[in-house]
Amino acid sequence: MTAQTVQRGDLVTVIGLEVHVQLETDTKIFCRCSTEPADDPNENVCPVCLGLPGALPVLNEGAVEAAVKIGKAIDADIPEETRFHRKNYYYPDLPKNFQITQYDEPICQEGELEIAVEGERRDVRIERAHLEEDPGSLQHVGGSIDSADYTLVDYNRAGTPLMEIVTAPDFRSASEVRAFLAELEEVLEYLGVFDAGRDGSLRIDANLSIIEGEAADENGEIGVDALEAANRTEVKNISSHKGAEKALAYEETRQKNAIERGRVVEQETRHWDESRGITVSMRSKEEEKDYRYFEEADLPPLRVSHWKDEISIPELPTARRERFQSEYGLSEEAASKLTSTKQVADFYESVAGEFDPDLAATWVADNLLGELNYRDMEITDIADRLEEVTRLVELVAEDEITAKNARETVLRDMLDEGKDPDTIVEEAGLGKTDDDEVQSAVVEAIEENPDAVADYESGDDGAINFLVGQVMQKTGGSADPGDVNQLLRAELED
Ligand code: ADP
Ligand code: ZN
Ligand code: MG
Repeated sequence: MTAQTVQRGDLVTVIGLEVHVQLETDTKIFCRCSTEPADDPNENVCPVCLGLPGALPVLNEGAVEAAVKIGKAIDADIPEETRFHRKNYYYPDLPKNFQITQYDEPICQEGELEIAVEGERRDVRIERAHLEEDPGSLQHVGGSIDSADYTLVDYNRAGTPLMEIVTAPDFRSASEVRAFLAELEEVLEYLGVFDAGRDGSLRIDANLSIIEGEAADENGEIGVDALEAANRTEVKNISSHKGAEKALAYEETRQKNAIERGRVVEQETRHWDESRGITVSMRSKEEEKDYRYFEEADLPPLRVSHWKDEISIPELPTARRERFQSEYGLSEEAASKLTSTKQVADFYESVAGEFDPDLAATWVADNLLGELNYRDMEITDIADRLEEVTRLVELVAEDEITAKNARETVLRDMLDEGKDPDTIVEEAGLGKTDDDEVQSAVVEAIEENPDAVADYESGDDGAINFLVGQVMQKTGGSADPGDVNQLLRAELED
């Protein structure tokens, strides 16, 4: 087959990711500067993260702990000893002219992460995950990277701990990449080492190549030789799941078009231009030798083997999702919602432990998350008020207020006005009316509305709704409409 006659169907898309994850530590990886977002540029800096001569790095134990947690979560090999290297290059965001990173002895090797794509489970292999320092950030003024009038540099971010997670070229589509990123973020948040809400906390370099289908074996697997021989592009500057999907779709089409026209896809680094929705060529791809890696002599090798046993990690989302289904009898959908973050899952379990698990699921997954979502809030925004939510569920479970009032009045007022449920129930008189009171309201309604009663008795079943409405009015909406319906029918039978 000549290049000109290649059909799209014969082309296989291959993608591998390098994901940079910002680790949630209080201070930077090699100095004691804060990692909190600062008001002004170049506020959280010191001689170490500014790369001033003579400054020496001191490794942050918290960053190593986070890395070990990630390693355990992806079932990676954590070696006896790990080591840091200098990666040399000149760029204004890196004042030392080298980045402290890891090279041939990274803290994690050969892990995997299970993802679900269209109902099917797949393992994505993770080749390595290593610790490194983030460079500073550049702000291009008056344009983008290639058209700005000038560029400002901010070293607040310089020295923030990063974990770079490198996958094998195991993805065959952008939607698999999306599923992977979602799962990865969930796992990292469960571990408490990552905050997806933080600006720039996830940055992705995506490698993509197109391989002709005949290089695949009968199982559709592509051999190492074909993967290595393929010209791939590395797309940089992707900062979101959506960005990754769009950039990869663009790059896939661009490369397929080139191949169909018999052109060679250059091996190069490309830049994702989010605003224009295209990738642009930046430079030919650097090779390892360009970086002149050598050992970081200011940091001794680090023995980590015993950390694995000493550091524990929580139950991870996939396992928890499965347990929620078997232990509480939840649907897959409900279990997914309830394990979307560790905080939600922990709260669900505390409520399900006290009340009926189905009632707890309705309250946490539907009512609470629904109302929070509507207000653009997260469960972490009401972390100190979860006892009040539990109390509200208790009021419903013990039949002290109707589910409707609880949902539509009490919960909403709790969120909008910051009051506790008992106060709202008290002030709005929502306490369920006692049975006697409902019964006398039923009798009254029947006496006062002979026309409706006559309609009902002559077979117009709808007339009962009018009577229910009358009783609800008399009881200030605090009776249960279903109960009232029953009581009315029983009374009219006599
Ligand atoms: P490099 O020399 O560029 O560092 P690596 O072997 O470290 O190459 O791989 C970097 C990334 O490129 C990994 O995420 C890997 O999965 C991906 N990759 C390797 N081969 C291919 C390919 N043929 N197509 C797409 N991505 C690939
Ligand atoms: Zn510093
Ligand atoms: Mg590499």
